[in-house]
Amino acid sequence: MTLDAASALDGARRIVVKIGSSLLIDAETRRPTRDWLTAMAADLAALRARGREVIVVSSGSIALGRGRLPDLGARLEDKQAAASVGQSLLMAAWSAALEPHGLVAGQVLLTRDDTERRRRWLNARATVQALLAHGVVPIVNENDTVATEEIRYGDNDRLAARAAQLARADLLVLLSDVDGLYTADPRRDANAAHLPLIESLSPDILAMGGGANADAGVGTGGMATKLAAAQIARSAGCATLIASGQTLSPLSAIRDGARATLIAAPDGPMAAYKQWIAGSLSPAGTLTLDPGAVAALRAGKSLLPAGVAALSGAFEKGDCVRLIDAEGRAVGVGLAAYAADEAARIRGRRSDEIEAVLGYRGASVLIHRDDMVLDDR
Ligand code: GLU
Repeated sequence: MTLDAASALDGARRIVVKIGSSLLIDAETRRPTRDWLTAMAADLAALRARGREVIVVSSGSIALGRGRLPDLGARLEDKQAAASVGQSLLMAAWSAALEPHGLVAGQVLLTRDDTERRRRWLNARATVQALLAHGVVPIVNENDTVATEEIRYGDNDRLAARAAQLARADLLVLLSDVDGLYTADPRRDANAAHLPLIESLSPDILAMGGGANADAGVGTGGMATKLAAAQIARSAGCATLIASGQTLSPLSAIRDGARATLIAAPDGPMAAYKQWIAGSLSPAGTLTLDPGAVAALRAGKSLLPAGVAALSGAFEKGDCVRLIDAEGRAVGVGLAAYAADEAARIRGRRSDEIEAVLGYRGASVLIHRDDMVLDDR
């Protein structure tokens, strides 16, 4: 398969599409660009009809809110009030655009903690999975109404990369008013060359975001934030497409060969995720497994509470724990779906007893097989 934007979009299974405010909001009327949204909804529906899962990261809450409340000032609380009003208008516009295709939109508002703290990240991930499993199109934005500077992603390019990582997407499409990365600013330099494919984000490439291309793209994110987002996505095994959204149906245009920059990812999202579990987390506890559980894990199953003979360590939900067998030999590592105190209470129990023991219905497994890396024997 040739590595280009069209084939990347064609081959992707789970796609995050980030849409900047300038595409969604008419600068004069300060209302949603209905024609563009209608065409985008058709593009998304076409992807869905081909069995792809799509997540939209949509900017526009602040711009729409200001359109409705033009007297708002520039203080933080004014911006947050604008976001409050604008976000519901944004969702209404998305719901109306998707409805004719039989698609339901689901609002997902994130703050940085939701992707940076593992416990919250597991919760957010479970919600996004549930939405996708029910055929909903998640429409993600930053929770601008409560997010202040210290706790913000700051721009939706980064937010979209984190959403791609959270959802284990294999493609992130950043749609804005630039059709990719150039060796120099194409508006000023006739020799500027467009880069269709970037296979590694070398310091030279990253520097292009800070120099000639720094002011490319209106809105919060210029090229530097796009490359930073691509770097986050790449480390999560997700490729990035930087493409222009300044045409109706930009996703169809990419499939038809429109100019874009593809930043490839060497590993798939699952492999990258497993490397992250195995390589960058220090275990906060240990679970001793009975022989039946060890055999089940090696056969590709998840770890059930029933298979845990003993546990130690003050781990939290989402922390990495070490797995050992009854003789103390290493079996692997994984992310716990319950904190140590809860794990101690459900240990040895059947999964259908969890609710009665804890008083709520949580995960039916203690560690999901996707969240686990076994040692080679
Ligand atoms: N979250 C902001 C909004 O919806 C946009 C931030 C950005 O586009 O980078 O208005």
